[in-house]
Amino acid sequence: PFFKEYIATDFADEDALLAKLNANENPYGPAPKAIEALKNVANKGNRYAWKELFQLMDKIALKEGVETKNIMMGPGSSDLLEKIAMVLFMNGGNVVSADPSYMSLIKVAEATGASWKAVPLKKDWSHDLKAMEAAIDRDTKLVYICNPNNPTGSITDTKELLDFCSRVSEKVPVFVDEAYLDFLEDGAKQSMVSLVNEGKDVIIARTFSKIYGMAGLRVGYILAQENTLEKIQQITRGGMGIAYTSIYAAMASIDDTAFQDMSRIKNAAAREYVYSSLDKLGYEYVPSSTSFIIFPIEMDGKLFLEKMLEKKVGVRAFDFMGKNWCRVSMGTMEEMRIFSAAITDVLA
Ligand code: PLP
Repeated sequence: PFFKEYIATDFADEDALLAKLNANENPYGPAPKAIEALKNVANKGNRYAWKELFQLMDKIALKEGVETKNIMMGPGSSDLLEKIAMVLFMNGGNVVSADPSYMSLIKVAEATGASWKAVPLKKDWSHDLKAMEAAIDRDTKLVYICNPNNPTGSITDTKELLDFCSRVSEKVPVFVDEAYLDFLEDGAKQSMVSLVNEGKDVIIARTFSKIYGMAGLRVGYILAQENTLEKIQQITRGGMGIAYTSIYAAMASIDDTAFQDMSRIKNAAAREYVYSSLDKLGYEYVPSSTSFIIFPIEMDGKLFLEKMLEKKVGVRAFDFMGKNWCRVSMGTMEEMRIFSAAITDVLA
């Protein structure tokens, strides 16, 4: 019943790819101000960054409208997704999430001893919140919601999600992964972060890997109630994993709003270009609220990946809801042209 990812047998030499569209990276990053900051503090790499980490957290608190005590930092949000899973599921239990969704937290929860209660997305690709609420039982330790969702790129209505989180978090903590929310024009308005200030038992995850273009520099954070973060930080440390240089890059990135706007605009233009290419080929796709697009393909996923790699194009392929799918990340316009030419040939 669960969705499956296809893996190509021949791993491409990633440097040889003409279009690297397989990891939802921002092709324009890091921001110019972040690169400058990295260079300026490279010589401080002999020091632990205790004080500097708090400077970054204060800056994030200001941006998010929360208090510093509501923030836990990590080297990428993956690290925090995994740590939450390890701490919450140490004594078993289950996690409720959509299927398909982003698997990082769920995989670790399962490995730690939890079971996964997978709830299919609705026909419009939004979360089936009613079914998710009904799936919660005595053993449920966490509900995980990725919004917008990966790998589908789809979004769930803000008001409905707010109501859901508000109500459900009375029973069980709700984790909302907002990695891609910044690509929306009104992302801040669609965030669940206000619930943290209302004292709700929610955990919001964010990353510097996407709109800020810092995937390789590894900075992410979660926003939650202080007692939730204490529980996790009694056992694990988050900010300890972040490089001194990356902390400065993150602080500079927050200030570089011109870069964020540029990323958002170019991402939207790349999406429009891919939509029109797919329209011309007669392919349907899931409308995207993110930096990637997914569409069904009539070909074995592994074969498809290999044929795309022959054309030096890296994408991802999945199997769910009885179909095979290609997920393509938004790269530069040049990369999207290369992608478009490649699928025209491969899927012909
Ligand atoms: N959450 C989602 C939905 C993602 O797609 C990703 C990465 O692609 C992550 C979290 C983790 O990103 P990072 O560890 O770079 O913050």
